[in-house]
Amino acid sequence: MTDMYDVIVAGGSISGLLTAREVAKRGHSVLVLEEGFEVGSPEHCGGLVSESALKELGIEPSEKSFECKIDSAKVFFPNGDNFSIDSRNQEIIVVNRRELDKQVARQAKDNGAEIIVKASFKNKNSNIIETSIGNFDCKVFVDCRGTSILANKNKDGIYPTAQYEVYADWIKKDQVEVYLDQEKFPGFFAWIIPSGNGVGKVGVSGNSISSVQAINEFLKNKGKFSVIRKIYAPIWIKGPIKQFVHGNTVIVGDAAGQAKPTTAGGIFSCGMGGIFAGQSISKYLKTNIESELSNYETLWRNKFGKEFEKQILARKILSRIDNKTVNKLYSFITPEIINDISKKDDFDFHTGSIIKLLGLKRSLGTAQALIGSEIKKLIPG
Ligand SMILES: Cc1cc2nc3c(=O)[nH]c(=O)nc-3n(C[C@H](O)[C@H](O)[C@H](O)COP(=O)(O)OP(=O)(O)OC[C@H]3O[C@@H](n4cnc5c(N)ncnc54)[C@H](O)[C@@H]3O)c2cc1C
Repeated sequence: MTDMYDVIVAGGSISGLLTAREVAKRGHSVLVLEEGFEVGSPEHCGGLVSESALKELGIEPSEKSFECKIDSAKVFFPNGDNFSIDSRNQEIIVVNRRELDKQVARQAKDNGAEIIVKASFKNKNSNIIETSIGNFDCKVFVDCRGTSILANKNKDGIYPTAQYEVYADWIKKDQVEVYLDQEKFPGFFAWIIPSGNGVGKVGVSGNSISSVQAINEFLKNKGKFSVIRKIYAPIWIKGPIKQFVHGNTVIVGDAAGQAKPTTAGGIFSCGMGGIFAGQSISKYLKTNIESELSNYETLWRNKFGKEFEKQILARKILSRIDNKTVNKLYSFITPEIINDISKKDDFDFHTGSIIKLLGLKRSLGTAQALIGSEIKKLIPG
């Protein structure tokens, strides 16, 4: 006889653990299967997140998971021009995902979920879930296996990515840096996210790049450094997949394309996917009404759908332009725009900042000439 659970979750990271927490909280049995040897490892995340996002996810960073606060973001253009945004109002912090995921695992467990590491999902055959540690029976299966399942289906949306944890004097505590260069990082950028004084995560991503070569060159140009950890993990930049729910299979998080198309940040939007999925699965289990399951998709799209559509468009436009055009865009950025973004904008819903940064409302004619007429679709009203 196979063990029976109301819900089986494949993938014990932010979206799987939050789904499990919400399902367990409502009194259902749930088992999380994590392929890795440890929840939170290997960490493939910069850990940049807003405090308001974590609050909405019901996570208060602990002493172990909190790394530092971010006060500013500095953006570099290919020719070296740069500007800084004061981000203190946006209350952005850096978390250690190895620890944060363990915190959420603890929340899930305290609500009644079971978690097993070194346990891989293999196949779903009707209601039977085949895994490396045996077969299980369930009423709902939740797929939270991350971008790997998208990579197998649609290679176009996947960008090779490298992120190294580095000790270096040039890493400034409290400041995130972003480097635009369409030749070195086509369609994306390089980044530095501090995790403390002289330590941080340095990453590169771009369409069809050799991520190893690109990160090595980037680091070489920065000065002296020591690398203490390397990860290579693809990011997905095409936004949500068409359908999150198929029969009694629910797809959540990176596996459903729920990370931001502009930056691939996914702690908040994938985590919310887990919360909406958990709530909807519970309603389905209580009522047996199938539409309750797909209501998860409606909840997620109501919250993130419009913003993600704009981000996809912004990404499309920006990935088409060359370095010369990127450099020209710098001239649209005025101190008033920077001030406006610093005071008002939202880290989690940030296309408003992109529109302001490109000075689009005021210089639409010039921007349109440079970038193309699609730019109009980004502007509200
Ligand atoms: C380099 C990099 C930097 C990033 N930086 C940031 C950032 O600064 N801020 C931010 O918000 N987001 C960032 N992200 C995105 C963020 O990490 C993801 O969006 C988020 O972790 C998605 O969570 P998830 O639970 O959906 O998937 P994942 O975190 O990818 O977890 C999937 C889990 O499934 C497990 N798994 C896979 N296959 C199986 C299987 N067959 N059986 C059982 N388990 C399996 C994996 O081991 C893994 O634990 C970054 C991503 C990358 C790659």
